[in-house]
Amino acid sequence: MSATVYLETFGCQMNVADSERAAVRLRAAGFDLEDSPENADVIIFNTCSVRERAAHKVFTRIGEVRRQRLINEPVVGVMGCVAQLEGTSLFDSSPLVNLIAGTRATDRLPHLIGRALDGENRIVDLDERAEGEKWDLPATARTSKYVAFVPIIEGCNKFCTYCIVPYSRGREKSRPASEIVAEIKELRDYGYREIHLIGQNVNSYRPRTEAGLEDFKGATPFCRLLRAVAATEMERIKFTTSFPRDFHPDIVAAIDEYDNLCEWIHLPVQSGSDRVLRMMRRGHTASDYLKRIEAIKNARRRIAITSDIIVGFPGETDADFRDTMRLVEQVGYDGLYIFKYSERPGTPAAKLDDDVSREEKTARFLELEQAQRRHQEKIYGRYIDREIKVLIERPSSKSEADMTGHSTCHKVVNFPAPLALLGEIARVRVTQAKPNSLYGEILSAP
Ligand code: SAM
Ligand code: SF4
Repeated sequence: MSATVYLETFGCQMNVADSERAAVRLRAAGFDLEDSPENADVIIFNTCSVRERAAHKVFTRIGEVRRQRLINEPVVGVMGCVAQLEGTSLFDSSPLVNLIAGTRATDRLPHLIGRALDGENRIVDLDERAEGEKWDLPATARTSKYVAFVPIIEGCNKFCTYCIVPYSRGREKSRPASEIVAEIKELRDYGYREIHLIGQNVNSYRPRTEAGLEDFKGATPFCRLLRAVAATEMERIKFTTSFPRDFHPDIVAAIDEYDNLCEWIHLPVQSGSDRVLRMMRRGHTASDYLKRIEAIKNARRRIAITSDIIVGFPGETDADFRDTMRLVEQVGYDGLYIFKYSERPGTPAAKLDDDVSREEKTARFLELEQAQRRHQEKIYGRYIDREIKVLIERPSSKSEADMTGHSTCHKVVNFPAPLALLGEIARVRVTQAKPNSLYGEILSAP
């Protein structure tokens, strides 16, 4: 098969990882991947429905791509969450779409595209993964040469009332630890410097067997996995996202034990009000959450903490919002993703009366954003004159002289450096702090 495929990805890190897996499987089946849609025989949109009006955005993109093309019509496919949730109705909404592949059809994509190229129309695959399907991606076939995303769990069983993920990605399924460890060793041997263990809730990791974890202690399977992965001596290990209810303090103990477990934890709280947390069915209170934060703050190294917050959940009063503002103040986050609540059809929250007006949602969003900006300026400012280790990942898009990368505490850092240092870890002295990034100068690099 010598057809060309253009794959465009929307949304979260899980989607980026799925696209990478799809790209590897497509290349292995003989397809060439294109960087732009103009001349591709096949165009696939890998969609995310966590954000608002996801299906609408896909159709807008399909229209734009169609206008860009002067020649024959391509095969157009929609994969991922929107495909899983909307199913065959996508055919009726856009006559150009002739392939629909759900969130667990990634490995079957080459076969599905082959059928479309053979002239078959309206192809649909919303099935589960095949039994025994492997998650592995060879180190040689990945997009970045220095940082690799390694999924350890997919799906979600939590059913927070506002969230579509359990419906679009199905139930939690953990990957065998032995497979994860083998993949990380291969990445290490191939020269990767940093890996991210990823999943909707990594600390809910619960594989079917202990294979690969037998030699490691830990209060939960995830704690044992962290130690097993740290023992591979991969240089830098990060993990995201952590779910508060399943966050065991032994995770902090593991970070204390191993320097290669990086000092950054993403622990979304969503709200500071117990009433709202109950309505969201998060399974934790503000004080449960703050206990976890205390454990993190008592770690040997300072661990950077980031979070997600939803403002304007149905029924959220001004007093509830004040509780959120107070919690944010108390924690002092290194970074915050703030979302205005928006309804996801089919979720329990969609049945609630959304009595917080658009204006009120926006006002709360802006107030929280401003407060966070002030905290962040202080936190980032404290890095000035400090020395941090940065993985040099790419040339900066803002300045020709600068390269950019992340610190072990997951801050974006920019500094002048030659292209030859790509992929190296440099000691950098921070000279300037902006609200979302640091600037510095290299002290030493290999
Ligand atoms: N599993 C992670 C957790 O529990 O925190 C997060 C996964 S979700 C893909 C990413 C973020 O999107 C959530 O933390 C939440 O803040 C936001 N989100 C999800 N559904 C939303 C909705 N209906 N309206 C606004 N924000 C939403
Ligand atoms: Fe969505 Fe809650 Fe699952 Fe996170 S834990 S993916 S917010 S249902």
